[in-house]
Amino acid sequence: MKQLVVLSGKGGTGKTTVTAALAHLISREQRLVLVDADVDAPNLELLLRPTRLRETPFYGGKQAVIDTESCTACGRCAEVCRYDAVAQQDGAYRIDGTACEGCAACYYQCPAEAVRLEDAHSGDWFHSQTRFGPFVHACLRPGEENSGKLVSTIKQQALLLADEQAADWIVVDGSPGIGCPVIAAVTGADLALMVAEPTVSAVHDLERALQVTAHFDIPAAVCVNKSDIHPPALERIEKLCREQDIPLLARIPYDEIVVQAMRQGLAVTEIGENPVRCQMEHLWDVLRGLDL
Ligand code: SF4
Ligand code: SF4
Repeated sequence: MKQLVVLSGKGGTGKTTVTAALAHLISREQRLVLVDADVDAPNLELLLRPTRLRETPFYGGKQAVIDTESCTACGRCAEVCRYDAVAQQDGAYRIDGTACEGCAACYYQCPAEAVRLEDAHSGDWFHSQTRFGPFVHACLRPGEENSGKLVSTIKQQALLLADEQAADWIVVDGSPGIGCPVIAAVTGADLALMVAEPTVSAVHDLERALQVTAHFDIPAAVCVNKSDIHPPALERIEKLCREQDIPLLARIPYDEIVVQAMRQGLAVTEIGENPVRCQMEHLWDVLRGLDL
């Protein structure tokens, strides 16, 4: 089983479009499990229109709760809370769950031992079915942290599922940037496919993303989306790939068909012959032939 993670140095480069198209092409001849590891802003679901089979809560951190029976209303918890999460209402102290960071300062400082720390429900993860295969995805609640832990959880679930179903591929739509969820997404991957757009900041974004994969010793390759919108920037990406010995596997041209596919909730490869589909098929041909 091969694990492919699709990444981008920044958001909006077409990472999800590429992931959905690859998932479609792979599913025509091999088995795959799909993962949306962009848990802060999951949108692969929009193209896949999955049927949810199971929903599981994710507890990513701690949250303080005041036992009103034991509380003596001394106000110490409000004094020590650096996040303004403790408020007084009608003489009683309460903790705002959306502001509490679970730092435990109030827990340790409460003279009446009236504060307890509970697991915080930070989001949910889902096991779903799509027309391309099983799909593991998640949604982190707004403002919640621990996205790396949630990505690790869903990747673990995807590995179990892939094993159970004897899948040939796990295809992961990673989150943009270089933070914790990206590190969790690339861990264990056989190849990180970077989707870049030829823009002014593209080389810098790509360089940072490649530093992450190099640090974790994950082989990387590049695919340029909207490759024809700014030739000088494309040249800079090509130069970077040459210098770092990173294979540039595909140059996908700009085409309105991508937006049309999105509107219809389809992968771009599902709507007839078009130049984007042609490049995606070329990309899949190359990926299939790599010795991962
Ligand atoms: S520190 Fe403890 S006793 Fe004092 S107000 Fe807070 S919860 Fe109540
Ligand atoms: S756990 Fe920390 S953040 Fe939460 S209410 Fe207590 S002091 Fe404030």
